[in-house]
Amino acid sequence: MSSDDVVAEARVVTIQYTLWNEAGEVLDTSRDRGPVDYLHGAGELVPGLERALEGQAVGAKLRVTVSPEDGYGLRDPEGKREFPREEFPEDASFEPGEQIVVEDEEGEELDLWVLAADAHKVVLDLNHPLAGETLHFEVEVVGLRPASAEELEHGHAHGDDEGACEDDEDQDEEG
Ligand code: ZN
Repeated sequence: MSSDDVVAEARVVTIQYTLWNEAGEVLDTSRDRGPVDYLHGAGELVPGLERALEGQAVGAKLRVTVSPEDGYGLRDPEGKREFPREEFPEDASFEPGEQIVVEDEEGEELDLWVLAADAHKVVLDLNHPLAGETLHFEVEVVGLRPASAEELEHGHAHGDDEGACEDDEDQDEEG
């Protein structure tokens, strides 16, 4: 078997997966919507899962337990941030659990998750909703192909609907 036959960097891998939390509840699964593509080595998956898939061939089925450190990180108890509601566009909606990008005073973009919002303030969390959680994956490798030059440049896999990549317009900002 050559190295072309296994999961490695610069290859687009198609997987089916199910994710459970420590309590055994299904948090996410591709089984009900079809397999997903990712670009291996680009950090599209949590590090622990990406590492477990390295070197696997099509047909491989794995059960992987990922610690918080290798998943969505440890939970920062200081991660909560409150912002005045008027700092956001009037028509913005804030669904709890929704991810939004906020620019801080230094112009750094921060990924934040909505905890709560009312007419006066928006409470956001620096922690991913799954930060601090041990993750249990069942994952199956169902496809493998070399990444295109464009996928490598973008740092993610493109699906079947070519040309629908949202990154095409703001490539300059990536870095
Ligand atoms: Zn793209």
